[in-house]
Amino acid sequence: SNVIEFKDVWKTYPMGTEEVKALRGVNLKIKKGSFIAIMGPSGSGKSTLLHLAGILDTPTKGTVLMNGKNIEDYSGKEQAKLRRENIGFIFQRFNLMPQLNALENVMLPMITADKEKAKKLLDKVGLSGKYNRLQNQLSGGEQQRVSIARALANDPTILLADEPTGELDTQNTKIIMELIKDLNEKDGLTIVEVTHNPLSAEFATELIKMQDGNIIR
Ligand code: ADP
Ligand code: ADP
Repeated sequence: SNVIEFKDVWKTYPMGTEEVKALRGVNLKIKKGSFIAIMGPSGSGKSTLLHLAGILDTPTKGTVLMNGKNIEDYSGKEQAKLRRENIGFIFQRFNLMPQLNALENVMLPMITADKEKAKKLLDKVGLSGKYNRLQNQLSGGEQQRVSIARALANDPTILLADEPTGELDTQNTKIIMELIKDLNEKDGLTIVEVTHNPLSAEFATELIKMQDGNIIR
């Protein structure tokens, strides 16, 4: 089954009196359990596609379906619930709260703070014993592991990753991508990753190439 489907999706942004066509009729099916890497030049529409897949935005024209249902048939409040319950996000710059420790960062998206669950998630990403570390007491690779644990806080069905290894060296890129691959293979988590890094993309099982707002391969 498809977790997310794009049907002839267009996205334009206003720019002065002109408009930018970020997506130009994208069709895409993201099957449950797939691991997709999206590559393509800067400005080709990768982030826009990821934002639409994460219900952070809606299309200008066309349809985005989540679990078979048009996301625009949900109210704003229902969309937020759908996003919270189904989607985990990770980012290039980790986006942790610097004043909170690892454990508190993981509990942040939970509706009811569950310390035991947060600890289990940090154990899962290899950070047992570092629950109380602040961001500046963690290496880049460790910070991304905290952000993966946080993304898993509400048991999402899909993990959306925007340049997850953009700030990491080769060794940590491999560690983080092995971890993500494990989540895909062992837990059946659906993964969509935007990346410039061929090494990072290699871990995916499907590669999408974008150019000028379209999927070209
Ligand atoms: P990529 O992630 O591949 O670099 P983006 O999806 O960020 O591509 O951008 C696609 C196009 O849309 C670019 O021309 C970009 O400048 C434009 N764009 C993206 N976001 C906005 C925005 N919020 N407002 C105006 N233009 C935007
Ligand atoms: P990694 O291989 O995960 O990047 P490093 O080799 O950089 O880890 O770091 C090894 C240890 O040093 C880690 O346990 C980490 O907690 C600690 N460490 C790394 N960077 C920092 C930092 N900037 N401040 C404090 N501790 C750090």
